[in-house]
Amino acid sequence: MTNLEMLEGIDADLLQTYDTRVPRYTSYPTAPQWDAAFTESDYRDHLGALPPNSRLSLYVHLPFCLERCTFCGCNVVISKRRSISDDYLDSIEQEADLLRAAIPAGVEIAQLHWGGGTPNYLPPNEMRRLHAVITDRFPIAEHAEIALELDPRHLTDAQIATLAELGFNRASLGVQDTSERVQQAVNRIQPSECVQRSIDGLRAAGFNGINVDLIYGLPHQTLESWGRTLDEMVDFKPDRVAMYGFAFLPEKLRQQVKLDSDTLPDTRARFELFLAGLRWFTEHGYSHIGMDHFATPTDELSTALREHSLRRNFMGYTTLAGTEGVCLGTSAIAQLSRCFAQSDKHLASYRRSVAAGRLPIDRGMTLSRDDEIRSAVIHELMCFSALDTSRIEARFDGLDFTAYFADECAQLKPLERDGLLHHDGPVIRTSKLGQILLRNIASVFDAYLGKKSPGGASTVYSRTV
Ligand code: SF4
Repeated sequence: MTNLEMLEGIDADLLQTYDTRVPRYTSYPTAPQWDAAFTESDYRDHLGALPPNSRLSLYVHLPFCLERCTFCGCNVVISKRRSISDDYLDSIEQEADLLRAAIPAGVEIAQLHWGGGTPNYLPPNEMRRLHAVITDRFPIAEHAEIALELDPRHLTDAQIATLAELGFNRASLGVQDTSERVQQAVNRIQPSECVQRSIDGLRAAGFNGINVDLIYGLPHQTLESWGRTLDEMVDFKPDRVAMYGFAFLPEKLRQQVKLDSDTLPDTRARFELFLAGLRWFTEHGYSHIGMDHFATPTDELSTALREHSLRRNFMGYTTLAGTEGVCLGTSAIAQLSRCFAQSDKHLASYRRSVAAGRLPIDRGMTLSRDDEIRSAVIHELMCFSALDTSRIEARFDGLDFTAYFADECAQLKPLERDGLLHHDGPVIRTSKLGQILLRNIASVFDAYLGKKSPGGASTVYSRTV
């Protein structure tokens, strides 16, 4: 029996047992554990301690969108007042000066990413200005990945030409689902022709990596309509696909209150939608990466998986292990080897901070040795669907994995009985079911899960199935 046939026959009770709410582990410790006790001064200490020849990944958050998609959980500012982005670039420029002064000379950018929001909210002249703000202060390494997120509904030929001229070589397009009924329900009407036109324009302009985001579990999605969305990938030919489960969190995301929960697929239906995607991409030659990403065999993500250099951060799965992540913009997250730091989520106070000469850090965390060990374990599992315990022991002086994680090893036993993983000498290997449920396995090693966040607020996570 193939992996897929086994998954198709999965017991309903077993599926229900593992349909829990745990973090997505784009970081460990996860964001609810970061707090305001971590200050700008702590962040400056970490930045100042970067080795002079560090390779950096720089994330720039551009929060503006013209309208709100109901499914979206990003920190966005909805505005039709176009001058808002020009004013924002004044703040980005001030923050870039502060960041430049805080890090040692000699660092270079190996990966630049504009995310949002909608980076193509910026007209071409503002794109040029933002790129100059960065490159005037931070040298870009040769062969750097220069990427951004794009909304096909608003992408113009002039923007594509500008981005190509600036050296952008990878773009992520939000597609989600191509069915009109689903698009109406989530307030994102986006004809496939508009996606195709964007992809064709980007390829013709020299972009060599096209990523597409899909979402399963949306309102009114059926196996049939989802199958049609998947079949459109034959024409789109993405190099990478992120296939996320819809996170329905009306208690946290106000815009989702409008959604009729009766129109949402249930646990079994969500699982079948995921399997349909898994089957489609596998049959079309894509590698299955982590829980929910797919890449062509020649894409750098597939290479990074083979070469054990895959990385997971708050943008999902990515390449370039060994880079330190810094950021610019409201709500953006810096991810250095021993700390996380998040900037102020509120546009007005973010702007006031940088105008006053402060790096706009709102909260963060310095990792303890225990955090670092657990982070390495969770990262290994989430990226490689396996955990080589001897590799973890080699990385942390004096660590005896079995003794240190005696409780966690006992907690893995039921997961082993349920077929999610098995032991192969010092390596814990996941099955295909375990790969899909990586969050459940990783959560065993999360020392904070179930505890209150430092602010005392309760935390709501998305479902694992
Ligand atoms: S999905 Fe993209 S375009 Fe829609 S609200 Fe979120 S960031 Fe904006």
